[in-house]
Amino acid sequence: MTTIKNIVVAGGTHGNERTGVALVQKWMENPGCYNTLCPSANVQLVYGNPEAMRLNRRYRDHDLNRAFSQVCLDSTADVDQYEFRRARELNKLFGPKGANTKTDLLLDVHNTGSNMGLCLILSARDPFTMKASAVLTQEFEDTWIYYQPEERSVSPYFGTVAKADVCIEIGPQQHGTLNASIFERSEKLVQRYLELTEEWNRGQLQTRAPIKVDVYTQLRDLGYPKAWAGAPIAAMIHPDLDGHDYCELKKGDKLFRTFDGKDILYEGEADGSTSVWPIFINEPAYYEKDIAMSLTVKTEEMW
Ligand SMILES: [Zn+2]
Repeated sequence: MTTIKNIVVAGGTHGNERTGVALVQKWMENPGCYNTLCPSANVQLVYGNPEAMRLNRRYRDHDLNRAFSQVCLDSTADVDQYEFRRARELNKLFGPKGANTKTDLLLDVHNTGSNMGLCLILSARDPFTMKASAVLTQEFEDTWIYYQPEERSVSPYFGTVAKADVCIEIGPQQHGTLNASIFERSEKLVQRYLELTEEWNRGQLQTRAPIKVDVYTQLRDLGYPKAWAGAPIAAMIHPDLDGHDYCELKKGDKLFRTFDGKDILYEGEADGSTSVWPIFINEPAYYEKDIAMSLTVKTEEMW
């Protein structure tokens, strides 16, 4: 990426993930919190889903952060669903998604109920977001890099209307609530992204020495055990695993526990690999999506 001219900072893409909502609210009322950090770029603030924020719910009719694939944006169906209309509106304001988008960088602030610290989700191997995120893993405790590669036009996430994006997932925080220390750390993190953008635009960030990072790359989502597809869930996250995001899970380790106390073990992957690193363990918003956790593979890289 060359110069970053237009940046969008978003909160409330999920209406009950209140760190981003509070951050955008505070910055709208106090522009001094952000408008001097990256003088070489234009920084805009936006509430992703105001209607869901009002309801203090993730969404009203449909998950907004699953409505930004090109197919969804082009569709003329679903006009009665608020979030599909809102996605098209946001795409018009900050996109259009694709090579001619107005937005160079989108920072979308989310929360998770999982024990994921400051999780920086990269959807592409973009040189700025890689370098800046690597720097932030050195500056902030409990900061992690999750790489979720996806073809951009197919990806349903808001961030993908921009040329580059970071989805910042902060937890553990109960949805619908705020946590002061999480808020303060998140604000500092987003402010640092803006300062590092300024460093990038001056050509300085690029010259920093490579940084060793652990990269957690999406492998697959894992659903809850069920008697048949569509049945109610038949087991819970195992207590030995709950809260242990980013920890290695080996074949034979405890994965779920049934309601009558039986352990269900991890059996390894179909390709014969025997270790994964689960994240989003027990995320409350994913019960409806039948995701018990996301399985990743950990690698060490120089960024
Ligand atoms: Zn979210």
